[in-house]
Amino acid sequence: MSSVLTEPRMTAILCLGRAQVQMPSNSDFKSLSVRQLRARRRRLAMSLADPQVNLEGSLVSQMRRCGKEGCRCSQGELHGPYVYLSIRRDTDRRLVYIPADLAQAVQRHLALTDQIESTLATISAINLELLARRQLD
Ligand SMILES: [Zn+2]
Repeated sequence: MSSVLTEPRMTAILCLGRAQVQMPSNSDFKSLSVRQLRARRRRLAMSLADPQVNLEGSLVSQMRRCGKEGCRCSQGELHGPYVYLSIRRDTDRRLVYIPADLAQAVQRHLALTDQIESTLATISAINLELLARRQLD
């Protein structure tokens, strides 16, 4: 058996990156009045993107080995890069191939999804602060 066949086909995984969102805490809102908190919460809710854009995962780029004997990739000249949507569920990770002409649309959905998650987290932090003041309505 040649060494090529025993090598994993997925060779390099390069994460194309998702902005790391700083999770807000209710202590960020201590200085605001209840009225200001509710106004902030309303503005955040109004700014939310349409939830129909929601798409979870992150884009990864991979170089691949096709496994055909004599192919240039067997000499280390890999194919790609190919773009995949990586979807994690608990310990599983699934990769969905993303054709080049769809990569930008997928990227836009992912960015809006990050924005929705971060806005909802901020609204939750505001509600936690309202709760601490017994003002959760
Ligand atoms: Zn090949």
